[in-house]
Amino acid sequence: MNYQAKTPHLDDLIFDNRFTRELPADPEITNNRRQVHGASYSRVLPTPVKQPQTVAYSHEVAELLGLTREICESADFTQVFAGNRQLAGMDCYATCYGGHQFGNWAGQLGDGRAINLGEVLNSNDEHLTLQLKGSGATPYSRNADGLAVLRSSVREFLCSEAMHHLGVPTTRALSLILTGEEVIRDMFYNGNPKAEPGAVVCRVAPSFTRFGSFQILAARKDINLLKKLVDFTIFTDFPHLGEPSVEVYLAWFEEVCQRTAEMIVHWQRVGFVHGVMNTDNMSILGLTIDYGPYGWLENYDPNWTPNTTDSAERRYRFGSQPQIAFWNLGQLANAIYPLIEQVEPLQQAINVYQQTFEQGWQLMVAAKLGLNVYDPEIDNEFNTELLDLLQLVETDMTIFYRKLALLVMDSELSNEVLMLPLLDAYYVPDQLTEAYIVRLGNWLRHYIKRVQSTGVSTAERQKTMNAANPKYVLRNYLAQLAIDKAEQGDFSMVNELLEILRHPYDEQPGKEDFALKRPDWARQRAGCSMLSCSS
Ligand code: AMP
Ligand code: MG
Repeated sequence: MNYQAKTPHLDDLIFDNRFTRELPADPEITNNRRQVHGASYSRVLPTPVKQPQTVAYSHEVAELLGLTREICESADFTQVFAGNRQLAGMDCYATCYGGHQFGNWAGQLGDGRAINLGEVLNSNDEHLTLQLKGSGATPYSRNADGLAVLRSSVREFLCSEAMHHLGVPTTRALSLILTGEEVIRDMFYNGNPKAEPGAVVCRVAPSFTRFGSFQILAARKDINLLKKLVDFTIFTDFPHLGEPSVEVYLAWFEEVCQRTAEMIVHWQRVGFVHGVMNTDNMSILGLTIDYGPYGWLENYDPNWTPNTTDSAERRYRFGSQPQIAFWNLGQLANAIYPLIEQVEPLQQAINVYQQTFEQGWQLMVAAKLGLNVYDPEIDNEFNTELLDLLQLVETDMTIFYRKLALLVMDSELSNEVLMLPLLDAYYVPDQLTEAYIVRLGNWLRHYIKRVQSTGVSTAERQKTMNAANPKYVLRNYLAQLAIDKAEQGDFSMVNELLEILRHPYDEQPGKEDFALKRPDWARQRAGCSMLSCSS
């Protein structure tokens, strides 16, 4: 972006609010909690806060909006993105959506603690919706307060940006601002409410429309508005598909399936567990959205979920994410059925999810192993054996794949020498029995042979692997340490993590401490391995 393109003042941001201009508004303007029919949104203002203080902001997102460092570090920025002052051109609203929560239809949900400020039109002609999360009650807040606490806001802010830099489609985060007010939360819903610092994150995305935005209209048989919202979504976010028609609706749904599959492949690649894949938390753009009780795999375990609210059923565990996304797409298909009225083509479109996922997954596995091809005949079994090995003893997924790039490609070496680069990945050295070492050694030799058969050079292999296997991810305990400090008024670690996570695939000498496996103290600590929906 050139210097002229920068916006010298916040008031110079250009807003072009297509959502509120094109879609019907709730005629009621009070802020009472209610069911909203026949409208896509309700106008509502953020609740002003006492003493806002900027904790952190993202340079890249600021740049996308054309905002300079001076602006982001100004008192006015803090006021605006805490929700205390509205800029000319903003048109604040909360949207109406529904959703399936943990497999059950939950009716109207909506932006209960998110308020959209409007759509910025940037100098690249892109529309970016600004949305404050945690800025007070809306008509959709049901029995909750519309607020967010610092710990969950740090997690949302850092993870959005970390995911972006990992190459995972995601909503972005511009700013993290303390409100100077207290919020009461019972973190584990166990009768221990406590006052916590309140915070607001400004999220940024081309659109925050969710599967549930369509579902609520279908559930209410408001087919008119359903068509309006689908047409609007196609015009604004899928313009390449052309004028809406039944064929275009199908092509659109197919593209949503494809984008969702690509997003899930990325999650599985980096070891991200969303934690609450309800249909209201599924973006129509295939972006990772709503960072709640998410977590990062430490030891590779497909059964792991960080969400204590889901600990019995584990519906949203790591290994189930691909099937859950498919199930969610099925719910979206049901919702748009009235516009298509044919099962067969919808069925075909949804198969695109399976195909895209399978293809993407194979390419991803190949890249993680530094292979230039994935041959199902050989590699299915070969990869299954690796995943079994990773689960047999507690193995840090991120470290294992990163260090596998350093393997010495000589099958003559002993098992013990071969596995030397991988030792950092193991949590419990006592688990490395003779039998395990032999089995791992066999796999490593098989791997060496497999790589050699592809003719890929060591330099090439390492390059591919280091671009697919991050060295730095937002480890659960690192986020918690940053939160502990931030709660004491020290924001240095939030900003340090933000900086490190801008380059997750680089070695970053001197920052190795941030790539270490989870320390023992973090194994059972709240916030590190266990999170609830309370945020
Ligand atoms: P989530 O599981 O966080 O995606 O939230 C599910 C629904 O609950 C959404 O409609 C949210 O807007 C709403 N919600 C969550 N937390 C709050 C809160 N503190 N105040 C109001 N609404 C909330
Ligand atoms: Mg949500």
